[in-house]
Amino acid sequence: MNENKKIVVYVDLDDTLVNFMSGVKKCPKETVARFERDENGKNQLDNIPGVFALMEPMTGAVEAFQWLAEHFDTYILSTAPWNNPSAWCDKLEWVKTHLGKAAYKRLILSHRKDLLRGDYLIDDSDRADILRFQGKHIQIGKEPFKDWTAVLDYFKSIVEH
Ligand SMILES: [Mg+2]
Repeated sequence: MNENKKIVVYVDLDDTLVNFMSGVKKCPKETVARFERDENGKNQLDNIPGVFALMEPMTGAVEAFQWLAEHFDTYILSTAPWNNPSAWCDKLEWVKTHLGKAAYKRLILSHRKDLLRGDYLIDDSDRADILRFQGKHIQIGKEPFKDWTAVLDYFKSIVEH
């Protein structure tokens, strides 16, 4: 067996594989206005019913995921909003539509990414549970991993060694 296939890589959805705002932009303006700030001034855009189904992939994300899935033991690790049940379904549908066979039964939804065992977590966020992840956190969107090209270069260097 290919030794790299023992390396577990988790990949986040929102703003890692999925362009979150591309979905928000397709929602009616009145809906966006209602969810942009709740009564406490908190951004609730991820609670718009059906919003996740409308989202487009990030640039290069689909090809990057396919490549990672070919070389490593790769899973999707995302958090779905507690108060938006349609998001849980929409995320599954998004993964089936855009990632297909490479992601078959490889979707994990959790509010505690630190509890998952693995080597790498590719995630744009630095939320507390992500920082506690025991493998290496690859923070996409931040130097030196500013985009998918940079992330793939890093993983290609692992395969070559
Ligand atoms: Mg994210």
